[in-house]
Amino acid sequence: MGRGGRATGEASVTSELRVGTGFDVHRLVSGRPLMLGGVEIPYDRGLAGHSDGDCLFHAICDAVLGALAAGDIGAHFPSSDPRWKGVASLVFIAHVMQIARARGYAVENLDTTVIAEAPQLAGHVDAMRSSLARALGIEDSRVSIKVKSADGLGAIGRGEGIAAQAACLLRRQPPMEPQ
Ligand code: MG
Repeated sequence: MGRGGRATGEASVTSELRVGTGFDVHRLVSGRPLMLGGVEIPYDRGLAGHSDGDCLFHAICDAVLGALAAGDIGAHFPSSDPRWKGVASLVFIAHVMQIARARGYAVENLDTTVIAEAPQLAGHVDAMRSSLARALGIEDSRVSIKVKSADGLGAIGRGEGIAAQAACLLRRQPPMEPQ
């Protein structure tokens, strides 16, 4: 998912630090690979979606865009646009980071939570963490991933989908020294 909001113009307030949050949930369906944070997780179902359905990457995109007050993932990559069909969500992250850099910001740190009843994700956290750090251009030590179950409650608890939350802090970068 990820529709709605519109892309807003350049933030008029320049702050040293800016924080944003993101949330996403996708349905689990048969016949698709399960992609989380750019890592393929062995499972008999995958996340549905116009792109690869990677709800962790989508939540992170919204957190970065939110910190910039630059709209949301649905505004930048509308599911009605065939250009984004089947696209790896790594492409979305790369585009969002380009926007952040153009506005003079880099990621200071990122904290995320993935909520899934199954499969067990604990053994994949290190790989997902490195993948996120690479995508954002920062060290692994600036990235956190927590994995939780929903304790059997609700749709996530019944294993019908996977959800992700992200909080991201951006720091303004010093201007480049003239060569
Ligand atoms: Mg999504």
